[in-house]
Amino acid sequence: DDAGNVKVVVRCRAFVRREKEKGTQCLIRMDPATNKTTLLAPSDDAESNSRKAYEDKEFIFDKSFWSHDESDPYYAHQEDVYRSFGEEFLDHNFNGYHTCIFAYGQTGSGKSYTMMGSPDNPGLIPRTCEELFERIRDEPTPNTSYHVQVSYFEVYNEHVRDLLSPRTNPPVYLKIRESPRDGVYVQGLIETEAKCYADVERLFKIGDASRTTAATKMNDTSSRSHAVFTIRLKQITHSLLSDETIERTARMRLVDLAGSERAKSTEATGQRLKEGGQINKSLTTLGRVIAALADPKRQNGKGRRPREVVPYRDSVLTWLLKDSLGGNSKTAMVACIAPADYDETLSTLRYADQAKRIRTRASVNQDCMS
Ligand code: ADP
Ligand code: MG
Repeated sequence: DDAGNVKVVVRCRAFVRREKEKGTQCLIRMDPATNKTTLLAPSDDAESNSRKAYEDKEFIFDKSFWSHDESDPYYAHQEDVYRSFGEEFLDHNFNGYHTCIFAYGQTGSGKSYTMMGSPDNPGLIPRTCEELFERIRDEPTPNTSYHVQVSYFEVYNEHVRDLLSPRTNPPVYLKIRESPRDGVYVQGLIETEAKCYADVERLFKIGDASRTTAATKMNDTSSRSHAVFTIRLKQITHSLLSDETIERTARMRLVDLAGSERAKSTEATGQRLKEGGQINKSLTTLGRVIAALADPKRQNGKGRRPREVVPYRDSVLTWLLKDSLGGNSKTAMVACIAPADYDETLSTLRYADQAKRIRTRASVNQDCMS
């Protein structure tokens, strides 16, 4: 077994046009040498008119990615983000470990940009998939065959919908099941075999087109759903010496969470507000799960809390991510922050700070048949 803490990185995006036009002040400083991220108290009128007392806050994460100002020598490109831990996580998969990378942050903070990116600036998911097939092609292990399967689903309003199956009216919602052998899984989810990168690319195009999106005032292409992209890598090695067959199956999960903001900050109303509330149920539960897992009493053997205390089953998202959060997985969180939103950024950084204390215990998933 390989125990370790959840890796937590933070990334600050550039100003979008709306912020540039308003002459917005950047509230984030990052020191790449120490990985320190500082959130500065806002000084402009709008903020200081409120009765709240703002102060500078400092945080240290495993890595800070400064993607705010492209002219800065420390600017972190998509490639830098991938090289710094995406690549390492792919190594883990080839070694037989399950992994999970999830992006957290308010709507418009750069979650989808970091996970999926654009055709010109691909993010972690396309880079991971491309390199996966490159490795299989260019550096295969002797006597090994590789099988790659992909699934893609979203959690929306506490319902699970398959993004690789055509949309229907009414929609088809899938059930979650848990078994001792397979853990928690989505019943009837399509798992499509992929033979090359182009196959996967086709699948995430289908999936992204199918994702539930709705306009909000903050970001009109933002998604209100949690999207979970999963790759299952199976490696079957036959040893000629011992005549044994070793099968390793590792799952990599790449999660683009819905916006973490409270419904009121997007001035959402009616249906949108209701959706916001429901989505927050998964996110609120995620917060409670993280808090329970980060509790120091869990960390030392003696005062160990009983497993039931972690409220995984209180929301669809946390139930599905149970293993990734507190079990057999190597896990990373990317906290995405906007450069000019004190309250939301503080809440994201605090969330991320707590996630640093979570420990998971990953083991190689392999079966030996002779
Ligand atoms: P989210 O998925 O968190 O709602 P997006 O990924 O859609 O946010 O990002 C919001 C906007 O900011 C998009 O226009 C996106 O292209 C831009 N953006 C996000 N991160 C970056 C970045 N690191 N560099 C440049 N533009 C970015
Ligand atoms: Mg998004």
